[in-house]
Amino acid sequence: MEVVVIGGGLAGLVFSLEALKTGHRIVLLEKEDTPGGLLKTESENGYVFDTGGSHIIFSREPYKLNYLLNIVGRKNLLRHRRDTRIYYKGRFIKYPFENGIYMLPPRERYEILKSVIETYANRVKGLLDEPKNFEEWIYYVFGNAIAEKYLVPYNKKIWKRDLKEISLEWVKGRVPLPPINDVLKSAVGIPTEGYRHQLNFYYPLEGGIYTLVENLLNRLSSNKNFRLITGVNVEQIYKQGDIVFVNTGDREFKGDVVVSTAPLPQTLNYIDKRYARKLDNFDYNSLLVIGIGTRFKALPYHWIYFPQNSIVFHRLAILSNYSPKMAPKNGTTFLAEISIPPGEQINTDKLERRVIEDILSLGIIKESDVVQTKSWFWKYAYIVYRQRYSETTKLAKRYLLEHCVITLGRFGSWTYINMDETAYRARMTARNLKSTFRLYRREKGLEG
Ligand SMILES: Cc1cc2nc3c(=O)[nH]c(=O)nc-3n(C[C@H](O)[C@H](O)[C@H](O)COP(=O)(O)OP(=O)(O)OC[C@H]3O[C@@H](n4cnc5c(N)ncnc54)[C@H](O)[C@@H]3O)c2cc1C
Repeated sequence: MEVVVIGGGLAGLVFSLEALKTGHRIVLLEKEDTPGGLLKTESENGYVFDTGGSHIIFSREPYKLNYLLNIVGRKNLLRHRRDTRIYYKGRFIKYPFENGIYMLPPRERYEILKSVIETYANRVKGLLDEPKNFEEWIYYVFGNAIAEKYLVPYNKKIWKRDLKEISLEWVKGRVPLPPINDVLKSAVGIPTEGYRHQLNFYYPLEGGIYTLVENLLNRLSSNKNFRLITGVNVEQIYKQGDIVFVNTGDREFKGDVVVSTAPLPQTLNYIDKRYARKLDNFDYNSLLVIGIGTRFKALPYHWIYFPQNSIVFHRLAILSNYSPKMAPKNGTTFLAEISIPPGEQINTDKLERRVIEDILSLGIIKESDVVQTKSWFWKYAYIVYRQRYSETTKLAKRYLLEHCVITLGRFGSWTYINMDETAYRARMTARNLKSTFRLYRREKGLEG
């Protein structure tokens, strides 16, 4: 089949690689000059920044993990045991919070323990109402103390929404339930680990997270059935008979099927603006990533979460602890992440200044140590699961399939997925492309 792929991020590249193996021909259209989507890396004076925010390689499923590790190449991989913190009342508490309780003063430990036990007992006795939204779920599972000290303020900061507006669908399978035993152990000072599927993670020794993209492009470039066209922004998709046309303003491409990894609401827009407006339930947050390069080594952690509003970023990653090649010798590469609700006007210069001041306020660097600052804005970063999330996305995907458009990727499928799942779904879609398409045509009575 002739396939037009929209978007050269991880989803588009993995899909292309796998679809070529089953004999399809691919034209991949990417609007930026460099493919990679969120997985881009830039280097300035020896400071290496992953411009789409901190990215580590991990997975619950070994086969999904191995696929990504093989793309990077085993010789260029570092394996880390996560050392991640939450900045809370001037202390760097071990993450997840419920596993770091032992680092809190006795009164706070007592408050948390009491609230966790009471909530647990009430839940088991059936005295608590079933949660109906994300905020209620936090209180229902963790109790008031952990909710109010960390989870609610942190989530409000990253989601920039009333947490009651966020659907429970977001939580399913994503936010791990804390084993009561871990909380008890942690409160009395016995160290435990939570969020275990991410306890060990991988990162390229050289090249930052873009290594994944670079290696995928190397594998694709030698295939004569693959064509990559960069700097072309898809604006319209339409069908004539059995052929789908993709218009990029001054050029037109055609295929039997289109695979779009562009954000789902945008893909709808390329076909029918009125229908896209009708399904207007696609909420998201943007992201400003601010990279700071400093002299001297600062802090031994991989990344730190900041629940308090007095600090502008919700997360600060220390990329030079992911790989020593991410900073000059004795330097530190920081990456601060600030989530931005859609449409909010931002002043990047002011925010860069604010990030530096906030890092200075932690007392870990001096102003004169800062040698490099740069920022990158990403319109689509976090999908916000509103109520009626499933209903809307299902309708949208069904509508697109009727126009021979298959959606894929984090924003294409409008699902909060990481690289492991993004790559896995891209592979499966490529492998099953013919049968999915035939089944669809048969259902529609287009094929006997
Ligand atoms: C802050 C942050 C941190 C993350 N951390 C991790 C992590 O630690 N580990 C992990 O596994 N995952 C992580 N992820 C998730 C990971 O980034 C994604 O799963 C993955 O990069 C998604 O790839 P994609 O191809 O679906 O999307 P994208 O990377 O967005 O690629 C889509 C591509 O389509 C192009 N495009 C869009 N519209 C058009 C158009 N009209 N015409 C042509 N081209 C178009 C874009 O330019 C882009 O190149 C993180 C995500 C974020 C936001």
